[in-house]
Amino acid sequence: MTILIIATHDRPDWWARELERLAPEADIRVWPDIGNPDEVEYVLAWRPPHGALAALPNLRVVFSLGAGVDHLFSDPDFPAHVTVSRVVDPYLTAGIREYVLLHVLRYHRNQPALDQQQRDRVWDDRARELRQADEQTVGILGLGELGRDSAEALAALEFDVAGWTRSAKDIPGITCFEDRGGLDAMLARSRILVCLLPLTPETEGILNAELFSKLPKGAYLINDARGGHLVEGDLIPALESGRLAQATLDVFRTEPLPADHLFWDHPQITVNPHNAAITDPRSVAKQIVGDIARDRKGELLPNTVDTSLGY
Ligand code: NAP
Repeated sequence: MTILIIATHDRPDWWARELERLAPEADIRVWPDIGNPDEVEYVLAWRPPHGALAALPNLRVVFSLGAGVDHLFSDPDFPAHVTVSRVVDPYLTAGIREYVLLHVLRYHRNQPALDQQQRDRVWDDRARELRQADEQTVGILGLGELGRDSAEALAALEFDVAGWTRSAKDIPGITCFEDRGGLDAMLARSRILVCLLPLTPETEGILNAELFSKLPKGAYLINDARGGHLVEGDLIPALESGRLAQATLDVFRTEPLPADHLFWDHPQITVNPHNAAITDPRSVAKQIVGDIARDRKGELLPNTVDTSLGY
C-alpha cells in the first residue's frame, strides 16, 4: 500500500512521521519523490500542483489536509472518479470556534476603538455604553461542521445568532435561513457577519458590495472561510463609506498576502495569516489511517465530499 503526501505549502515531514508511526507497513512517499506512479493508491494533499493527481492512474482516495476542498477542485485535471475525503476534526472545529468567538467579542465590546483610544491617551466615558449580548445580532454564512459549532458557542454566550445554509435547518437557539431566498433576510439582521462557507462556484465572490449594502449600516465582517469569497476591491470602499465598520480577514485570494497589499495597513482591517484553525497531524493522521483501513475492507468513508456540490 503506497501513500503519497503532496503538501508543499504544509509540513510534509510532519505528516510522513505520523503516518510512519501509525502505519509502519505502508510505503510513504513525499512529493516530488513519487517513485512509480502506478503504485500510489492514496494521497494526502494540500494545494497539489495542477495535474499531479491525474498522473496517478490507480489513485483511490485523496485526503484533503484541510476542511475545504476547493484547492483540489480548482485543478482542471482533477480525476473525477477519485473519492475525496476532508478533515472533520475536533481540534480544527475548536480552532474556528476560538477564532469566531475572539473576533465577535472584540467587535461586540468595541475593542478596536478602545485600542485607538489607548494609543491616543483618551479616556472616553462613552466607552461604557455597551450592548448586551442578546442585543447583538450575529449572522453566520454556512452552518456546517464549523459554522454550526461556532453558532452554538455564540448562542451559549446569549448572542442573537442566525445562520444561512443551502438546505433547510432546524437548530435550537439559532434562527435559520436557507437558499438564495433567505439570504437577504439574514443579512438585514446581522450586525456581525461571519463567513464559514465552502468555496464553490455558487459562493465565489459572495462577499461583495451588493451583499454589504444589505447589512445594517456599520456592520462588521469576519471572513475565516476562503479568500475567494471576498471581492477584494469592494471592501475598502465599503469600510471608508461607513457601510462596514471593520473587517477581520484570515484568508485571501493570494496567500501569503503580498507585502504591498492595501489590506495590510488599513486601520479598519485586521489581517491574519490563515491561521484561524490548523489541521493537527497528530489527530488527523490517525483518522486517515483508519479511513484507509476502511477503504481496503470496501467500506464507505466518513467525511467524503459530494463532488457534484463541490463540498
Ligand atoms: P461544511 O461542513 O461542508 O459546511 C458548509 C456549510 O455551507 C453548510 O451548512 C452548507 O449548507 C453551506 N453552504 C454551502 N454552499 C452553500 C450555498 N451555495 N448557499 C448557502 N449555503 C451553502 O464545511 P465546514 O467544515 O463547516 O467548513 C467550511 C469552510 O471553512 C471550509 O470549506 C473552508 O473553506 C473554511 N475553513 C477555513 C479555515 C481557516 O483556517 N481559515 C479552517 C477550516 C475551514 P448545507 O448545510 O445546506 O449543506
